[in-house]
Amino acid sequence: MMNSIKTNGLGRLFKQLKSAWSSPAVPARSCSLATCTPKNRNDALHPLWQSPLTIPGGTRQSPINIQWRDSVYDPVLKPLKISYDPATCLHIWNNGYSFLVEFDDSADRSIIVGGPLENQYRLKQFHFHWGAINEWGSEHTVDSKFYPAELHLVHWNAVVYPTFEEAVMEGDGLAVIGVFLKLGAHHEGLQTLVDALPAIKHKDTVIEFDVFDPSCLLPPCPDYWTYAGSLTTPPLTESVTWIIKKQPIEVDENQLEAFRMLLFTSDGEEEKRMVDNFRPLQPLMNRTVRSSFQIRQLLDIEAQYSDHAQQIRP
Ligand SMILES: [Zn+2]
Repeated sequence: MMNSIKTNGLGRLFKQLKSAWSSPAVPARSCSLATCTPKNRNDALHPLWQSPLTIPGGTRQSPINIQWRDSVYDPVLKPLKISYDPATCLHIWNNGYSFLVEFDDSADRSIIVGGPLENQYRLKQFHFHWGAINEWGSEHTVDSKFYPAELHLVHWNAVVYPTFEEAVMEGDGLAVIGVFLKLGAHHEGLQTLVDALPAIKHKDTVIEFDVFDPSCLLPPCPDYWTYAGSLTTPPLTESVTWIIKKQPIEVDENQLEAFRMLLFTSDGEEEKRMVDNFRPLQPLMNRTVRSSFQIRQLLDIEAQYSDHAQQIRP
């Protein structure tokens, strides 16, 4: 699974990957969101959030709280079809904010299609967000409930755009699958990743990590919510069709602890644990969250209420 540390072409690789996470080519506009205002910043904030931020709009920012009851069932939403080629997996690296598993996206080999998507999207990378403790860590919430971690599988629209960097700037450029992690049973698929983490403890370390099928990290239930949103890290562009899986996957405490052993800092710097690497919730504004499933429990409750109302009718 894991081989020696790569040295050839690493500088170029970092440049490419960093540009994907911190592209400055965003039309300038002051950020009006509370999380971006200087009064909310402090020295403890990760460097990612300390420089002035510009975003292109501010009407479809992520993450959001998904209010189960307010989500609208859309029967037109198709099942999401996922087809990943394990051989496209390239490496795993610590970018100083999360750890990323990157894929060869030069051809349509690891793709998703269907669901809310008009086109086929190619897998670029996946990463996680997590908390210092189990009480929080996910970016999205469901009925204001946080999960201890959240997986993001990032795909781009290679049908319409020639490069990932161009897709990042466009409204239909990206599709991200979000999966909540909850505390429970040991996760065998995740353990392969966890075993690789000690080798990328410090910022800017990367190792080869080939032949991995990330579909092992997806829950069996096909149900999802979907909404139009943004990246949750700079440049925060409003380019993401979010597909949030309803069912979380279970991981055990040791696996979450292994995430928390990673460092935000480079070798030689004062160590800062990689924890709480999530963006705060953003306002829903004028958006609707659609669901691919009907809300069974609520329908049951309403049916019971309706029965009861009929019984007490004179
Ligand atoms: Zn993310």
